Amino acid sequence: MHIIQVGMEYDVLRENNKIAHENYRLMKKHGIKSVDIMGSIGAGKTSLIIKLGEKLMARGQRVCAIAGDVTGEDDFSRMAASGMDAYNCNTGHECHLDANLVRKVLEGIDLDKYDVVLIENVGNLVCPADFPLGTDYRAVVVSTTEGDDMVRKHHDIFVHSDVAILNKMDIADAVGVDPEVIMEDYSKLTGGLKGMYACSVRKDEGIEEILDALRL
Ligand code: MG
Ligand code: ZN
Repeated sequence: MHIIQVGMEYDVLRENNKIAHENYRLMKKHGIKSVDIMGSIGAGKTSLIIKLGEKLMARGQRVCAIAGDVTGEDDFSRMAASGMDAYNCNTGHECHLDANLVRKVLEGIDLDKYDVVLIENVGNLVCPADFPLGTDYRAVVVSTTEGDDMVRKHHDIFVHSDVAILNKMDIADAVGVDPEVIMEDYSKLTGGLKGMYACSVRKDEGIEEILDALRL
């Protein structure tokens, strides 16, 4: 049983990577910059995407978001209500997006209408790491409310991400979490090469730095 699972997983991951490359080429053909935003439930992925979208649209960029969720339209509705074009992508029962699901969504979008595509992955810090979607950048968002051990517990997703973001800096004191611990863990993980981007989406602090880090 275990051996069969390993074999299947290899094929699944290889197929995913192939489709991810196709997604990448498709978006490049239309001059699109894209980001896969990963993180657990409640980290603030939707709010961050809305904030990034607002700032980019204020600069004249044409932005859309893809809301990945197991089921429902909550994130999609929030994005759409913010004035951003949004597309919903329900996985059914999978706890992560994969390149094939994203390809189906991209095929239904007039890609000439956009400069930037922001993809919200399903709330999960484990398996999204294994499934690249074909975006330029992969970002992981954690929040101070999740405790100070997120990097130590989930280092895979931090290793697989280009940019790491620590949200809810404004309430770190209130929840008794020292952001320095989280940021030091991340710095250690990257051999001191990369730092984490601290922000508060709610207070609109640190967002410009994230846009720069994502080359948006
Ligand atoms: Mg969300
Ligand atoms: Zn999963």
